[in-house]
Amino acid sequence: MKRIPFGAGGNAFENLTVATRILLARAGQSEIIWLARTPTTLEDFRVFLIELLTPLGVPKDEVIFFVGRLLAVATSCEERRLREYQKIPWWDFIQAPQMSKAYQAYLGQGPTRSLVAMRAEESSTRTVGVTQLQLFYDLIRPDRLFDRLLSGPTNDVWIDLWVEHLRGLGVDFHFGARVTKIGTTGSRVTTVSINGGAGEASITADYYIAALPGEVMAPLMNDELKRAAPSLANLDYLKTRWMNGIQFFLKDDVPLANGHVIYLDSPWALTSVSQRQFWANVDLSQYGDGGVRGILSVDVSDWEAPGIILGKPAQECGADQIKDEVWAQLKQHLNTGEWRQIDYANLQSWFLDPDITFPIQVRLPMPNPCSSILQVRCNTDRRPRWSWKISLWHRIMCGPIPISLAWRRQTKRPGGR
Ligand SMILES: Cc1cc2nc3c(=O)[nH]c(=O)nc-3n(C[C@H](O)[C@H](O)[C@H](O)COP(=O)(O)OP(=O)(O)OC[C@H]3O[C@@H](n4cnc5c(N)ncnc54)[C@H](O)[C@@H]3O)c2cc1C
Repeated sequence: MKRIPFGAGGNAFENLTVATRILLARAGQSEIIWLARTPTTLEDFRVFLIELLTPLGVPKDEVIFFVGRLLAVATSCEERRLREYQKIPWWDFIQAPQMSKAYQAYLGQGPTRSLVAMRAEESSTRTVGVTQLQLFYDLIRPDRLFDRLLSGPTNDVWIDLWVEHLRGLGVDFHFGARVTKIGTTGSRVTTVSINGGAGEASITADYYIAALPGEVMAPLMNDELKRAAPSLANLDYLKTRWMNGIQFFLKDDVPLANGHVIYLDSPWALTSVSQRQFWANVDLSQYGDGGVRGILSVDVSDWEAPGIILGKPAQECGADQIKDEVWAQLKQHLNTGEWRQIDYANLQSWFLDPDITFPIQVRLPMPNPCSSILQVRCNTDRRPRWSWKISLWHRIMCGPIPISLAWRRQTKRPGGR
């Protein structure tokens, strides 16, 4: 991002603003806000974690046990993580089946399901443990750079500048084109076939970079490619989960928290960011009909769990149903007791990622071009390895690179694409 020019002498990296808090909202219960602090010893860190997790309402002895498990991962060498922890589901490692419902929901599934769409029951201790630890390490960073968000719509402050910068360097883009085949001879890639945009075409280049989602890359792997790059032969075994989002455009801003909100009790594993507070130099009145004052951007990370209104999972809902269900789950967390933080009358409009097409076909592994997070089963041997680059690609890169850019949180401006 530092190499993407922005304005006079600036760059896209400078468009990141710092978030200082994370808000954990619970259905019908008071909210918990985590702030940054800096422990200096392992014991400090243990106490910090216990203090941090205690307000969740999990029995104290279970919190202490959970923190012990986290510290076991924290103090293990990479070899142990790979050899042992990779084979143990996080759910078993933290002994979730023997614990209270609160432990299972808030410590077992909790943030990992919401933030990275991973299931504790099937994800490895190495992956989940390390991910969770990173979240806690970030909370205690001395520089307080816990979380950073862009200071405007993603296209405006990052992607468009990047595209322009790359064009200036001579990159040709083939937007809307799908890679349909990777042609090979022996261990060399010789051509890439694309379809869409201006029709079918074959691209020949000196070098090729495949930056495709794993589940898209898997069917493109022919036998020759698999032989040439054996660690890529197992892409079929990787598991993906859906994660995608909806934006609510509000007549009045509702900042909620200076950072992400995790809706711990939401069956669809929602998280949100209220963006206006981070967009200091964005004049929302210049967008759409000028009536938007706040934007609540929400990610849905569980598309298979039944919702609270229709009892249906997100993947079986239509667009309006997804909107209603997400709003209801937000409301359940944000409007507790007398406190009313969101009100349907304040909703000006909403936007669901158009990559989600209806009806959503649920049988195929990744039917919709909807964004996903890759989740890896408990077997490192099936993960693509760094070495595949050496074995196959060291002689083949650059030239016209087919790049297409997917939707990300914050991409959509109010009233425009
Ligand atoms: C809802 C959501 C919210 C997120 N929020 C954040 C966040 O706030 N902060 C953060 O750091 N990360 C976030 N992430 C994670 C982040 O977006 C990903 O880690 C990152 O985008 C991965 O980059 P990538 O280039 O590997 O894959 P992608 O960004 O997925 O890029 C793959 C590209 O391949 C294209 N493609 C697919 N099939 C084909 C084909 N056949 N031919 C040609 N092109 C094809 C896709 O259109 C896409 O543009 C979020 C992810 C999701 C899903």
